[in-house]
Amino acid sequence: MRFADVVGHQRAVARLRRAAARDRVPAALLLFGPSGLGKRALAEAFATRLLCAAPAGDDACGTCDHCTRLAHGTHPDLTVVEREEERRDMRVEQVRTLSRWLALHPLMATRKVAIIDGAHFLNEHGQNALLKTLEEPPGSSVIVLTAPASALVLPTVRSRCQLVRLDPLPLDDVVRVLAGRGLAPERARRLAPLADGCPGRVVALDGEGEAGARESVLDTLPRIATLAAPDISRLAQDLARGPVETALAASLGFYRDVLERGLLGAEHPLRNPDAAGPIDTAAARLPVTTVLRQLEAVCDTIAIVERNANRTLALETMLLCLREIERGRPLSNPS
Ligand SMILES: [Zn+2]
Repeated sequence: MRFADVVGHQRAVARLRRAAARDRVPAALLLFGPSGLGKRALAEAFATRLLCAAPAGDDACGTCDHCTRLAHGTHPDLTVVEREEERRDMRVEQVRTLSRWLALHPLMATRKVAIIDGAHFLNEHGQNALLKTLEEPPGSSVIVLTAPASALVLPTVRSRCQLVRLDPLPLDDVVRVLAGRGLAPERARRLAPLADGCPGRVVALDGEGEAGARESVLDTLPRIATLAAPDISRLAQDLARGPVETALAASLGFYRDVLERGLLGAEHPLRNPDAAGPIDTAAARLPVTTVLRQLEAVCDTIAIVERNANRTLALETMLLCLREIERGRPLSNPS
């Protein structure tokens, strides 16, 4: 992955290119922006530029020994720390291993680069364990952290990092990213509006489990007001076992469609054209204030889940909330 392969994010890319070209690279950076935006790809492009033996201008050459190894994931001076599958947190031990690794001399390049992908998955212990390394990174090593929001890492960690914000991509860029990941052009164009500027969300929607989660959400939300508490509980458990981010993105997309149809009329294009019927019915039935409150409930839940909360509980609370808002009852007493 080179800078030239990164779609969009011009401002962030230009900043990282400049820093590398002038060799004024901060010891720690935090790339932040919503999930599915391409933070990991940008972190890898930056690492490649830093480790490349023969940078062409302000990008990696793509052909030297270092670039080849990086492309194959076998460069000894790059390490990626991420949450292990099936775990809610990153382990403190992963941070200790990283610190020990950074303390060793680089094997091939002149420096070492570490990517901590999803630094918000480090709990307080983990983030505190990282502090000393961030303060005195060995040699000229560079640590790149990613997180959905800068507020999700501790202030003590944040203040030791240079912050680089990534914004959602324009629709054309989303289509380019999706096409680059192998989606047929027609499919990429059809799915891109669902991404809300974060192509990773659509790639996530494209899998089998993801399609199921989305279907289940689009089937349930239009009739949420009629569901009994045990049905909601069951649904929350089902969704929590699957890709929760997808279920939440689909919920967000549904209510945004309802809101926009209500405000902008039937000509406005939908994110979920396959659910046009229920969306139009909901738009005709629900006052704008109701839909806005439902959107707020979904956004709150996305923030809660990103902070690593209990997913079943977060989903169940959200679904009950959505139901009570629609029934026009006070939220404090869902039943
Ligand atoms: Zn190279």
